[in-house]
Amino acid sequence: MSMTRVFKGSFTQQEPIPEEGMAAALDVMRHGRLHRYNVAPGEESETALLEREFAEYIGAKYALAVASGGHAMATALRAVGVRHGDAVLTNAFSLAPVPGSIAGVGAIPVFVGVAENLAIDLEDLASKASGAKYLMLSHMRGHQADMDRLMEICNRAGIIVIEDCAHTMGALWNGRFSGRFGLVGCYSTQTYKHLNSGEGGFLVTDCEDVVARAIMLSGSYMLYERHGKVPPKEAFDKIMYTTPNVSGRMDNLRAAILRPQLKILDRQCDSWNDRYRAVEKGLRNTPGLTVVERPPEERYVGSSIQFLLLDWPDDAILEVVERCIGRGVELKWFGNARPAGFTSRYDDWRYVKSPKMPKTDRLLKAILDMRLPLTFSIEDCDLIASIIRGEVGAVYRACVSKT
Ligand SMILES: *Cc1c(COP(=O)(O)O)cnc(C)c1O
Repeated sequence: MSMTRVFKGSFTQQEPIPEEGMAAALDVMRHGRLHRYNVAPGEESETALLEREFAEYIGAKYALAVASGGHAMATALRAVGVRHGDAVLTNAFSLAPVPGSIAGVGAIPVFVGVAENLAIDLEDLASKASGAKYLMLSHMRGHQADMDRLMEICNRAGIIVIEDCAHTMGALWNGRFSGRFGLVGCYSTQTYKHLNSGEGGFLVTDCEDVVARAIMLSGSYMLYERHGKVPPKEAFDKIMYTTPNVSGRMDNLRAAILRPQLKILDRQCDSWNDRYRAVEKGLRNTPGLTVVERPPEERYVGSSIQFLLLDWPDDAILEVVERCIGRGVELKWFGNARPAGFTSRYDDWRYVKSPKMPKTDRLLKAILDMRLPLTFSIEDCDLIASIIRGEVGAVYRACVSKT
């Protein structure tokens, strides 16, 4: 019976925007001041308020809201001084906008491998650290490296760290928010992340010089005093004539729908983790399948889940993917010969010259990835896990009996 059950939910359906956000968005549309610097006398814009609230949530001195997560990363790279032709270390297991942000500022991505916990490989990082100046660290799919060790390696080598927290907004390492280890933390509020404004992003930092440059870069038209968190005027005096405007602002409509979501972010993170743990529990002890163990120092946000089919032949993995799709369960495979949807690999980004990375290739080939939107119930997650378990088991048994 259970072998033939089919899941009917949508892996790309997020929750509605909270009523409070819809009401706030209507207010903005009624008064018509959508541009973040368009304020009535004495008014603070929704965008400025959002920046203040996000900085307070994350515990940073400064937060800047921008048009996308990718724009936050590119702005961070420029603001910390990355120049045309500079090398920037970054994860081989990541998403296309990460190397894209580096290439977009004319710098050169240098890939660091992935470890079995799906975080950046710290051995490989240590071996590439000497002489490096920058690391764009992507907490891909929410997997955090041992951040204490990572910062030790980078601090010793004098590497400036920027964190890509597109999948770790609300996550902690050893009680410290993801994005608060490096000089700058970057976040996305694109629909599939932990806050949803369609498009949008933040960067956070404690550094006056970095945030002053980032505000100028974001397109502030010398209206920087209208920001939610503003460094002293002297910080701008130093850089205002030498920092270009690379427009990429957040607007008040997006900020209005984000503010009520930020208030419930912690609760949402708990809900994601309830779903994550239900799927994880259902997948444990499936022959041939490796669950990715999460270290106790990590508070993750399980908005997606990954598992490994290590050293399986390609056609067997493809068969699992197809059989699961047939039962309504969408798995993304990072081993695919062609990049598909959001899934691509370091060797698909051919504008970067990179040597082959055999250890990383073995892991990338094994990674199966699945979204867990909050529109799924716990019962949905139980069913999804039982479908994956059944199909992985069936293909695995067939493979074993052939050999
Ligand atoms: C989504 C994403 C980004 C970029 O965010 P956008 O808002 O889409 O530009 C960066 N890194 C990772 C890992 C992401 O998933």
